[in-house]
Amino acid sequence: MPAAPGGPRLLLRRLREAMAEPVSPQARLDRIVVLIAANVVAEVCSVYVLRDDNVLELFATEGLNREAVHLTRMRADEGLVGLIAKTAEPLALSDAQQHPAFSYRPETGEEAFHAFLGVPLLRAGNTLGVLTVQNKTYRVYSEEEIEALQTTAMVLSEMIASGELQGLAPDAGTAARRAISVRGTVLAEGIGLGYVVLHEPRIVVKTLIAENSEREMTRLETAIENVRSAIDALVERGDKMGTAESREVLETVRMFAHDKGWLRRMREAVGSGLTAEAAVERVQSDNRARMVRQSDPYLRDRLHDLDDLANRVMRELVGHEAVGLPGMLPENAILVARSMGPAALLDYEPGRLRGLVLEEGGPTSHVAIVARALGIPAVSEIENAAALCDSGDAIIVDGVGGEVHVRPGPEVEASYAEMVRLRARRQEQYRALRDVPAITRDGVRIGLHLNAGLLVDLGHLVETGAEGVGLFRTELQFMVAQRMPSAAEQQALYRAVLTASGDKPVTIRTLDIGGDKILPYMPKLEEENPALGWRAIRIGLDRPALLRVQLRALLKASDGHPLKIMFPMVATVDEFVRARAIVDREKAHLRRHGYTLPVDCQLGAMVEVPSLLFQIDEIAREADFLSVGSNDLMQFLFAVDRENRRVADRFDPLSVAAMRAFRLIAERGAAANCPVTVCGEIGGRPLDAMALVGLGFRNFSMSPAAIGPVKAMVLSIEAAAVAELIDTEMARMHDGDSLRPALAAFAKARGVPI
Ligand code: PEP
Ligand code: MG
Repeated sequence: MPAAPGGPRLLLRRLREAMAEPVSPQARLDRIVVLIAANVVAEVCSVYVLRDDNVLELFATEGLNREAVHLTRMRADEGLVGLIAKTAEPLALSDAQQHPAFSYRPETGEEAFHAFLGVPLLRAGNTLGVLTVQNKTYRVYSEEEIEALQTTAMVLSEMIASGELQGLAPDAGTAARRAISVRGTVLAEGIGLGYVVLHEPRIVVKTLIAENSEREMTRLETAIENVRSAIDALVERGDKMGTAESREVLETVRMFAHDKGWLRRMREAVGSGLTAEAAVERVQSDNRARMVRQSDPYLRDRLHDLDDLANRVMRELVGHEAVGLPGMLPENAILVARSMGPAALLDYEPGRLRGLVLEEGGPTSHVAIVARALGIPAVSEIENAAALCDSGDAIIVDGVGGEVHVRPGPEVEASYAEMVRLRARRQEQYRALRDVPAITRDGVRIGLHLNAGLLVDLGHLVETGAEGVGLFRTELQFMVAQRMPSAAEQQALYRAVLTASGDKPVTIRTLDIGGDKILPYMPKLEEENPALGWRAIRIGLDRPALLRVQLRALLKASDGHPLKIMFPMVATVDEFVRARAIVDREKAHLRRHGYTLPVDCQLGAMVEVPSLLFQIDEIAREADFLSVGSNDLMQFLFAVDRENRRVADRFDPLSVAAMRAFRLIAERGAAANCPVTVCGEIGGRPLDAMALVGLGFRNFSMSPAAIGPVKAMVLSIEAAAVAELIDTEMARMHDGDSLRPALAAFAKARGVPI
């Protein structure tokens, strides 16, 4: 086997010169293939570029028939080149023609060649094309040669990614800049058009080829050493205060930092003439390609760990300041991240954020809750999102249909822009209704209140014209914090909430944790059925210290103002009575210590456990008010997990069984003179809310975006006519049927906006 005359270092130097020449992109590419062929002593060197229509096209060749350039094309999974593109792994064969995937292209004159080596052109784990060399003999390519060709491939990847080759194919663009549409899960409703801002920006390595390899090796070693010491320090700190779980994670990272294979490959890449940054990226790119294709979640997590580690080394090399800080956002920013905590999202300037795209995170994740509170459209479960786009790429987040469009084509962009205009017009119409009281055409007044959980939500009170806060979920403060909020912090938040809402009433719910609402700093309980487990008021009654601290903070924060407190997940009247006794005790304590108590302190129970339906008269007598938590009530009534997408929408809250339950609460509440509000999602959906008005409900609490649509519905109905329709329909319904079609037809016939 002939040895390469100059070795990879010389080749890289030549390539650097070629890159600097003021020639056309095609001429540069033609020059590059000649240089590579000469350096690795091959008769053939060819570059295939993946186009945006998923076709691999021959862009340049030395050795094959030049007429075939821009003519030879194959599907992305066709032939040996397609195989390399698909697997994103190098392929070396001493006799290519014997390989089952070999596909013969007569126009290239390939029949004369036997040995074949191809490597993928990768960037951030994505295949952009394939680089091949071929020989007439049946030669065996060495590991070093494969490695050297991969290093060389980086230069070509950068050329493609920079957009330089865009337009060289006569009828398509390159895949590197292609439009991508991916479907995910909606975390927060809305549509956002803007430009990609990577939450953890990928560092763009500008200088690939080293001037001085010895110096680059020292830089790499120093960076690795610094990362190792930082991890050691973390492990040591973790030993003192971390959980067993976090220690385990850190130990794994430490193990990787000493991984011989990983270190050797980076050192080899520097040895072959790359800068330290380029060497890290070169190895990281292979790793990412494997990560994208890895289906085993455990192995994928480990590759993620390795990727994180490479990021750390990279940051050491380029300096932390080059990474960019939250807050320095361009206008119309759409954040793209693998995952994100709620606090990190709050660090960004919300006025400039138009959307959020995540690889991981469900609708109940804390970051989703914060995105909703901030009104930022968000979509998650977009696999490999951070690698699919570059900073500054145009992107659309469709938080209605659950899609993300990266580098959208003009038609897609125009249709979304139109959708945004329509939505804005509708919002304007709703805004015009802001100060119009929500009264039905037959004079029934409906109270529309807000659901909130963070201080930022309170801004929506003025914006929407809501009458007050019908449900303030106090657990959010606990969920977004790094540690248990102190009594003083709780009191400060409640005070701020009461101040921000001025004269408008606020109903504050005591901590509803457990189930799916886990606090990161509380020991996690292993429960078979967490939704049915130790949660909400059950924790409050069993560990009264937590509840007492919260109640005391609330009472102190009220400072003479009226206060409405409600308890979540009440299953028996006795639980409510016991909770009330704790409030009474706290009041007495504060009174003794000279605090001003609320002028009016009302205590309510949430109706979300079906057992309360069978004690409805008693609870309506005991409580000052009731609030229907329909999200949980439906979950328990129909035995469907509200977070399980497979079953969550299986039963209709407008079916007879549910409607009977709702009617019972409305009627018995009214009979006992006990005000009832509906604060689950159902109250925010115009058609469903219309049904509830027909059943007798007069107060609803909902997300800010729902106030306008629900008010528009209220203004156009006659409550008595809806009630009549419901009476008739329920009388003749068979069990299991839903009233939805009849209600929808009714709304349509009368022009009710739903
Ligand atoms: C409900 O269950 O309907 C409710 C309002 O409470 P949460 O969604 O917070 O459980
Ligand atoms: Mg609930």
